[in-house]
Amino acid sequence: MTGEESLTLVDEHLPIDLDMPKSVAEMLFPDLYIGLEIDLLAPGDGVLTDRHHASANRYEADDAMNQIGGQISPFTLSGWLRHACEAVLQIAGATACHPGESNADYMRADVYERDLESGYHEKGACTDEHDAGCVIYDLFGGFGDQPGKLLRRPVSFSPIRREVDVLDGEAEAHFRQMSNQVRSRNEEDGGQPLRQADRDVLGNVEGTWKLTLREVKPEFVGLLLEAVSFLDAHSDEFGFQLGGARNFGAGIADVWIVNPLYTEQEVRRVFNRSQAATQAMEEKDDVWASECRPEFVRALQARAAARDGDVPVPGSDGA
Ligand SMILES: [Zn+2]
Repeated sequence: MTGEESLTLVDEHLPIDLDMPKSVAEMLFPDLYIGLEIDLLAPGDGVLTDRHHASANRYEADDAMNQIGGQISPFTLSGWLRHACEAVLQIAGATACHPGESNADYMRADVYERDLESGYHEKGACTDEHDAGCVIYDLFGGFGDQPGKLLRRPVSFSPIRREVDVLDGEAEAHFRQMSNQVRSRNEEDGGQPLRQADRDVLGNVEGTWKLTLREVKPEFVGLLLEAVSFLDAHSDEFGFQLGGARNFGAGIADVWIVNPLYTEQEVRRVFNRSQAATQAMEEKDDVWASECRPEFVRALQARAAARDGDVPVPGSDGA
């Protein structure tokens, strides 16, 4: 991407013509903002905090003055998003690229073979038919020299709202270190703790995850739109919660793609509690939902159909 002027939709490879009411240059692309609202997130190892000056023994969990910021790992976020992308393709009747190498050392025997029988194809096998591979391979990247087309950043967080810039992919969130104690059930022990476990959690996460497309292919946008809708609709299903502590309700994410027709000021407005959506924003929401979104999804269907002959092509007979 050399600059905004050269930003065009890369769609010559698709067997359909798209009817988009706006040019992509009028949209926020190549950036895409994923809105996040998560009451409790336990990122596990996927959190980096800036409390270098307050080491573990000086940290006081109930100190209201502790203003700890940090980053949520893009690895945690990326796996979550990719899993939903795979599910969207599988529901459409296509197979998804397996995330792992076929010769990797899996912790369970036969797991790779089992996955190949349930909606996955061997990673990179799709490049035999199509140089770019399937849409997952193309978007997330393949082997060594095959970079993905989707740049996934970490989400920086801060407990101080005015320091959060949603245009930079940041979120307001409150870091706490929680201690769980497992106590003895045996009466003789008088309920004394057997084991203590510390867990890093973030409360009330609210902000954006900023993604950037290195190439704006419409089927990428279609896949991300469908995957994010899927995550939102299945947010309390174990397999699609984000991070750890899922049995305790962590990682249930309200998630959406911020309307790409918005201006940067309008993106900020979405996350400003004191401002409601303007009439212009509501009009853009209508145009997006009725005219733009369906075209991006049609592009995804066409790309999936081009690889997997049995996926119905939108607009063709019987589809
Ligand atoms: Zn593939």
